[in-house]
Amino acid sequence: MDLTNYRGRFAPSPTGLLHIGSLATALASWLDAKASNGVWIVRIEDIDTTRAQPDASEGILNQLARFGLISDEKVIFQSNRIPVYQQYLNSLQEKGVIYTCGCSRKKIQNYYEELGEIIFPHQEIVYPGFCRRNPPNHQTPGALRIKIPDNTIVNQQWLNKEVGDFILQRADGVFSYQLAVVIDDHYQNITHVVRGADLATNTPRQIWLQQVLEFHTPTYRHIPLVLDPTGNKLSKQNKAEPLWPQTTEAILGNLARIAEHLGLNLPLDQPKTISSWLHYAVKAWRDQKRLGIPTG
Ligand code: GLU
Repeated sequence: MDLTNYRGRFAPSPTGLLHIGSLATALASWLDAKASNGVWIVRIEDIDTTRAQPDASEGILNQLARFGLISDEKVIFQSNRIPVYQQYLNSLQEKGVIYTCGCSRKKIQNYYEELGEIIFPHQEIVYPGFCRRNPPNHQTPGALRIKIPDNTIVNQQWLNKEVGDFILQRADGVFSYQLAVVIDDHYQNITHVVRGADLATNTPRQIWLQQVLEFHTPTYRHIPLVLDPTGNKLSKQNKAEPLWPQTTEAILGNLARIAEHLGLNLPLDQPKTISSWLHYAVKAWRDQKRLGIPTG
């Protein structure tokens, strides 16, 4: 592949400011793009208005700038692209691959629990297809799901996973992350996605949707999550500290910590400015890591 065509992205949801874990994803995606002479784009994934925090988008862009990570193209906001998502949803509806579902998460969870399976709070559950088999009556408001033929297994590198009919639009009208991310990765011609291992279970769903919409599939890499001392994922939900270092020294300290987490070997005597640190890190990433980040 001609790596000058590399197009990568960092796509934060503005549910809060970046913490060390989300910044690790930003840096890994930036390094992989730069080490491949590629383009790196920031996209703000703010379609879920029930979760977006006021000012978080601006705050995230300021944080990234502080760390020297600047989008090579105009930052796009998903909240400005609702009509596009609607158009694709209509086209899928015309293909007859969508149905309405009135099931709550609780109902699906209970079904699995009765089978003796434990479901974790943010786990993507494979939908057992109740409303596909027994459609709710037309009056019931519901989410829209895509129909995946039974026992479909999507294979991509380490992924080999049953997908299950997943949601494209929620009952409250919000388009799903899966739909919007697939449309935008295609719209922005993304060739490489580098993101956290917590999103790896979404990848087969996204690949499936790309196939239905006849989009290309980017190369995916998932980086290991930064964990807190008790072994839990750092997240905005569990109040991970936002990164807002005041001094260059503190920023370099954060960058060094992330480099270590990503398994990047840098010389002990690291550069003293952010731009030269990034310059060395790109070189190191090119030699040691490019397209070869450990998978989660
Ligand atoms: N917006 C998603 C998040 O912040 C990430 C999207 C992606 O990288 O695919 O969790």
